Amino acid sequence: MLPGAHTHMATMKLKPGVVTGTSLQELFAYCKESKCALPAVNVIGSHTANAALQAAREAKAPIIVQLSQSGAQFYAGKFLDNSAQQASIAGSIAGALHVRTMAAVYGVPVVLHTDHCAAKLLPWVDGVLTAGEEYFAKNGEPLFSSHMLDLSEEPLEHNLEICRKYLTRMAKLKMTLEIELGVTGGEEDGVDNSDVDASKLYTSPSDVLRAYDVLSSVGAFTVAASFGNTHGVYAPGNVKLKPSILDASQKFVEKERKTGAKPLDFVFHGGSGSTPEEITEAVSYGVIKMNIDTDTQWAFTQPIKKFMDEKSAYLQAQLGNPEGPNKPNKKVIDPRGWIHLGEKGQAARLVQAFKDLGAFGKFEF
Ligand SMILES: [Zn+2]
Repeated sequence: MLPGAHTHMATMKLKPGVVTGTSLQELFAYCKESKCALPAVNVIGSHTANAALQAAREAKAPIIVQLSQSGAQFYAGKFLDNSAQQASIAGSIAGALHVRTMAAVYGVPVVLHTDHCAAKLLPWVDGVLTAGEEYFAKNGEPLFSSHMLDLSEEPLEHNLEICRKYLTRMAKLKMTLEIELGVTGGEEDGVDNSDVDASKLYTSPSDVLRAYDVLSSVGAFTVAASFGNTHGVYAPGNVKLKPSILDASQKFVEKERKTGAKPLDFVFHGGSGSTPEEITEAVSYGVIKMNIDTDTQWAFTQPIKKFMDEKSAYLQAQLGNPEGPNKPNKKVIDPRGWIHLGEKGQAARLVQAFKDLGAFGKFEF
């Protein structure tokens, strides 16, 4: 057991702020040992970031806040040119600094992460890493806890070669790398895998072993393995969720490399729409992070839709509503009113995710 990780009977004590380096490895080890995982939510601005921090405060558990390439671009504002990823780089830095500032005020521990980065988007992570190196030189800790590289479209050896190169750079900053093996189905952020060959939707244990061999001596990494999981929520289809692939992969690496139990930290992409039973099973096989995006988008948007419907008669003009032709609608127009409804909806959905993942109340800070 790693130092700092308490036995499963106790709760884990964490400091508010961004969790990085060996503290992050201890956190993941504790999650595996106590069979819980943390929700990772994609944020697109200060509103969604603050709602994530509030959820962590309510659940008394650390949250993983992540920026996708297009989410980071949105954080910077879609007005900007992003041809060299400059808006995504600046948005990532702005998002990280916002979360770093506010995590202390909300009093919660946070894991700061960037989501899928395909080969063509590598200049984005390059720019964020350069900023991270400057941040590390000044502060002795990385700007982000971790980055993800998604080179699952590349052949396995090429995928792992690039990951090894980046992990070498990131290990110097005490950062963790998330890699992807196999393909997450569905569509997210403009990457459409909804028509990919079905065999690619299931990672093989031998690929996981190969990743372990290439990366474990270089630095800390987590694996987004495919077990039939998809981005987005769809009507039940042909792709069946098989969390047992994760179990088989853990046991294969344990046996072949004579490690302890559950040597790998798995990431569950496409958590939206999954049943509590599916989530519990995946977590029992060493999933320490579950990405949830579509469900939190829905939870943010739905209360706003309801508000707009209910207040429709108050939103036709600045003056005039069912109470009188000259009655002002100032209070209904103010975006703070309805944006906060979205924030509350998102925070409540994330608290539910903490419960589904078994992380609710398992921490102290
Ligand atoms: Zn994903």
